[in-house]
Amino acid sequence: MEMLINGNLVDKDEKIDVNNPANSRVIDTVPQGSREDVKNAIMAANRSKKILQEMSARKISRILYDIYEDVLMSSDDLAELITLETGKTIRDSRGEMKRSALTIQLAAEEAKRIYGETVPMDAGIGGRTALGFTIKIPLGVVGAITPFNYPVNLAIHKIAPAIAAKNAVVFKPSQKAPLAALKLAQIMDSHLPNGVLNAVTGKGSVVGDELVTNNLLDKISFTGSIPTGVSISKKAGMKKLTMELGGNDPLIVLDDANIEKAVAAAVKGAYMNAGQVCIGVKRIILQEGIADEFIDRFVEQTEKLKVGDPMSPETDVGPLIDEEAALKIEKTIEEASNQGATILCGGKRKGAFYAPTVLENINSRMKIVQEETFGPVAPLITVKDLDEAIAVANDTKYGLQAGLFTDSMKNALKAIKLIESGGVMINRQPTFRTDNMPFGGFKMSGMGKEGVKYAVEDMTRTKLVVF
Ligand code: NAD
Repeated sequence: MEMLINGNLVDKDEKIDVNNPANSRVIDTVPQGSREDVKNAIMAANRSKKILQEMSARKISRILYDIYEDVLMSSDDLAELITLETGKTIRDSRGEMKRSALTIQLAAEEAKRIYGETVPMDAGIGGRTALGFTIKIPLGVVGAITPFNYPVNLAIHKIAPAIAAKNAVVFKPSQKAPLAALKLAQIMDSHLPNGVLNAVTGKGSVVGDELVTNNLLDKISFTGSIPTGVSISKKAGMKKLTMELGGNDPLIVLDDANIEKAVAAAVKGAYMNAGQVCIGVKRIILQEGIADEFIDRFVEQTEKLKVGDPMSPETDVGPLIDEEAALKIEKTIEEASNQGATILCGGKRKGAFYAPTVLENINSRMKIVQEETFGPVAPLITVKDLDEAIAVANDTKYGLQAGLFTDSMKNALKAIKLIESGGVMINRQPTFRTDNMPFGGFKMSGMGKEGVKYAVEDMTRTKLVVF
């Protein structure tokens, strides 16, 4: 598949293979983009942003609605492509496409709701005769960089709000899963003036780095791992930044919780997309009174999961993105075992597949609970009470989302106040997102919020007018 620069499909002699992680076969190739390609894309975006800025909000909203219809029609094809290139189960890929179309629709609606405000100038000295108000203006050109795990919806969370706020975009998909994202870019481009949306494939250290360091860009909206995010924020200079980074989300289950619901939530949260979800359940913290019963039921449900061909609608857990990722999980689990962790089920690898794994006898200093384990792994930690549960939950550099199961309002309110994360889900797994809600982590998990309305806000700057 080709890249997209200034409305043209661009190919290169040098290619990147895109593999199907379920069988290691090459599905397709994409061009190995260069710094020159990125510069061309940025120039095209800078020319075309003026056309967009001349358009009415009503027209841009209409265009986004047309894109929504088109993406909806291509949803089945795009879902298949997502499964082929990422190994995500076809059920989950179809779910991603449903959400993706809706995210575009939300942006079409938000395009008509970009408001400034009046400023009470007479509250300040000398302002009595002044009339002040703000207008929200586009930033100009936005660089969008995305990871492999939700290749379409995460791209839309950046591109659609950017366009809704009248910005041109240069988009870099993950080189591990660029196909569905490129197809999406082609669909969107067919409704937009040339150069408004450009998509350049290639290495993070080349294509990504050029985007981050090029001064003709006004913002970088990045979703990916903490190390990449930190290196981007050091290099980006005076650009506006949104950082949606990794998570190490806890699910706390207290003695007064509904265990059946908590177990179902834990299974969903820990193993969805083979555990490769930023808001996946990465640590399960159990109060000692319910721990035994929870563990028995959770292991039983984990063992029932069907691991296998991601194209089959029966499959619950597919492969990881590649064998290297599965080897990394294997190593982390081996290390935890050597430090005293017990494997209750799973613990086996075959190629890029890793069996859903439950671990107990975990202490909170182990790497498996200190770092983000991006795989189908559920480490269990038992605690005495809510205070200890909150202390364990906060004992990490991450702070994306958290989940708590309890029947007590008092416990819920205490946890909401004290847990250090961007979102707290009560009687739900942290692995919960609607595409309009404010989404984004605290601590090292990021800065800024996505969720269409919030992303649109971040894609503008405020200009003050005083009469
Ligand atoms: P990654 O950081 O390896 O790559 C993300 C993107 O950054 C890719 O497109 C990559 O090519 C690019 N990149 C790499 N080096 C770069 C550089 N030096 N300059 C600019 N760009 C560069 O992440 P990944 O492995 O693709 O994705 C998994 C990570 O993403 C996990 O940590 C996960 O938690 C996180 N994630 C976060 C969210 C969120 O919303 N908070 C959502 C999904 C995934």
